[in-house]
Amino acid sequence: MSKYVPKNEEKFSYDTGRMCRKCKKGNYITSGRSWDEYVPETKETVTEKRGVDVKHSDGTTSQISWNVSVDKYSGGYTTRQTKSISKCNKCGHKFKPNAAIFISIGFFLIALILAVLSWTLDIITPFVIVLAVISIIGCIAGIITKWGEVRVKLTNIFAVILIIASILISVDNGARIAGGSLSSMRTGFRINQFGSNSMVISTNRNLSGVIVIPSQHRGTNITAIGRNGFADTSISTIIIPRTLSLLMENSFARNPYLTSIILHENIYISHGIVSPPFHSSNNVTIFAESSTKPIYWNNYWNASNGALNEAGQFVGGGGFRPIIWGVNLSEAGDFVVSFLRSEGNIERGMQYDGSVPIINAPYRMGYIFGGWAVGRVNGTVVYNAAHVYRAAYGSMLYAVWV
Ligand SMILES: [Zn+2]
Repeated sequence: MSKYVPKNEEKFSYDTGRMCRKCKKGNYITSGRSWDEYVPETKETVTEKRGVDVKHSDGTTSQISWNVSVDKYSGGYTTRQTKSISKCNKCGHKFKPNAAIFISIGFFLIALILAVLSWTLDIITPFVIVLAVISIIGCIAGIITKWGEVRVKLTNIFAVILIIASILISVDNGARIAGGSLSSMRTGFRINQFGSNSMVISTNRNLSGVIVIPSQHRGTNITAIGRNGFADTSISTIIIPRTLSLLMENSFARNPYLTSIILHENIYISHGIVSPPFHSSNNVTIFAESSTKPIYWNNYWNASNGALNEAGQFVGGGGFRPIIWGVNLSEAGDFVVSFLRSEGNIERGMQYDGSVPIINAPYRMGYIFGGWAVGRVNGTVVYNAAHVYRAAYGSMLYAVWV
């Protein structure tokens, strides 16, 4: 520490002009101490020469000299002060900061974290969005305005509403996932309700095997698979109900084990410039009910790898997944019955390395695909899944389920 002694030390006090909460007569007085303290800014070690003259007995003189190291400081004085808690100048009541302020800020932070969590966990509904926005505005208003006690309490009330709402929504969502018609769908689903008659479904990343999406949940139709809804899972197939009419961006992206899927003809595919529904799902074969590509499906809707550039051109050594167009489905639309082989109704696709991908078998719950029979139901299997494209144009092919 500095070897310099503080100077100009003095005590001070001043009237804050703030009325005493207790006696309502005096004002709070802040008192403190200030002093000037020397702060060394630089320390420099210099060498100084010292010497003495020595007189010899023969009358001559000579000098003995030596060097010493000296620390030199250059710096200055700076004023410091400490202030003590304000006291009332009448009754001596000590002013304390309002603890509610800190509680309020704490609540606000908790509420904010919960709101963010609700958002990222995909469990938010319009109700909680409105509630969260109102609560956060309320909290901020309470914090940035005067520290009046009423406003602080209002902030806390808003924050508590938000916390309770977030918890309720999470619990309710968990209950919805666990119960009812979703019990057969394994755990991990998230359902977002939009309006009174549509739902978007999505999931966590731990799903595998066969997934069946029910047509309704609690009396409301499940209408869409949300953005990234089933991205990054290990599912092998997913059965989509006829009520479902929308696949959003990347809905089945990055699913390496997804081998087949049926798309009904009333499905609308919505995807951005780089996010087709099967992006990087490099093993899927698509069985489409529609006989040709609906005009409102993007040209790159079955792109599996690579991406579109800003000009809408496909780049990156991309691939396209195989499609069989115009399949006849069961009444529920959950499995393939047959299709008429025609020119162009089998698109064999392209791998990202330029090779032709293998066409996979369709899927039917509880059955094994035996192959394709020609001309009649349960006829002799003529083509296996991979070679069905060899069938002559005009031949009717029936899936044999065993
Ligand atoms: Zn007082």
